Amino acid sequence: MRPAQSRSSSAGGPGPGAPDFADRVLAWHDRHGRKDLPWQRDPTPYRVWVSEIMLQQTQVQTVIPYYERFLARFPDAVTLAEAPLDAVLHLWSGLGYYARARNLHRAAQSLRDHHGGRFPETFADVAALPGVGRSTAGAILSLALGQRHPILDGNVTRVLARCFAVKGWPGKAEVARRLWTLAESLTPHDRAGAYNQAMMDLGATVCTRTRPACPLCPLVDGCIASGRGTPAAYPERKPAAVLPLRTTQLLVVRDADGRVLLEQRPPTGIWGGLWSLPQIEAGADPVAWCEARRVGEGARVVGHWPARRHTFSHFHLDMRPVEIRLERVGLGGVEEAGRVWYNPAAPDARGLAAPVRRMLAALAGNGGEP
Ligand code: SF4
Repeated sequence: MRPAQSRSSSAGGPGPGAPDFADRVLAWHDRHGRKDLPWQRDPTPYRVWVSEIMLQQTQVQTVIPYYERFLARFPDAVTLAEAPLDAVLHLWSGLGYYARARNLHRAAQSLRDHHGGRFPETFADVAALPGVGRSTAGAILSLALGQRHPILDGNVTRVLARCFAVKGWPGKAEVARRLWTLAESLTPHDRAGAYNQAMMDLGATVCTRTRPACPLCPLVDGCIASGRGTPAAYPERKPAAVLPLRTTQLLVVRDADGRVLLEQRPPTGIWGGLWSLPQIEAGADPVAWCEARRVGEGARVVGHWPARRHTFSHFHLDMRPVEIRLERVGLGGVEEAGRVWYNPAAPDARGLAAPVRRMLAALAGNGGEP
């Protein structure tokens, strides 16, 4: 194979070097690629779609059990569309990035309402589904139906950025354009699905972020970054931003039986649609909050638990749990829409914000402060 410098001149179309590049990737796939992942068996567009959404921010090994539970409960788009969002979020609980689950649910409703419950087979229709971008649409159609579309997820971006020494942060439009041009020019006309799968696998298992195994890589001959000994320099990181810090109180309101008051979060925003401990401003009075909401009588603060920090993509959240005991729960046991008494020792099927799930599990374990 000729050096990567000359291959890069092929960008913009399947020019010199592209067939050789794809041949080597496909030969590696045939010998080493993963072929028995749950979504690779009977790879219908629906099954591949769910896997691609789950894999967007999560590693394969973590995804597998979630995927299998999800497919067992929602084997097709109509079943998913007709399930309550809470049931979907429950099966997503722990995977994080819950917007993915909400988009999956909305997209399934769109499939039911506009496509007769069938998965569309054109790029424009697939890319129009909520939560499906250009790369995901390309992955679904190539992996499930063998259509030729380039993909550019995080793993493929890393391989291409290193092979061709693409400078700049891929979140910048001009860098993304360059990478897409490369991806497009290198994707073969035959076996595009296997090629895309192989590129994702290469990035995930060989050209890893911190320890690329260049001697095992089919692209080592000609890879510019490897030749220079600088794989770690690609792709460039997002310019660091200092995340702001927000502080909040989490109310651990417990009744005489040890049940804990949970509230459902609004459908959008952090932990959208999930169940969480009530959250109030850092300086607000927890007892006054209980009285105003009529959650019960005789509310008193019995303890402050150690603060814990959760980092979201755009801010840190410092949560300060405040434990409150009630003498009596409010009228009707507060079983209102969006609010419920929850028994940590007998968890039910509901989507919980991950830090809250951990706190409740610990609470069930020792009955006291997690
Ligand atoms: S040779 Fe090394 S740096 Fe280049 S693509 Fe392969 S693993 Fe990545």
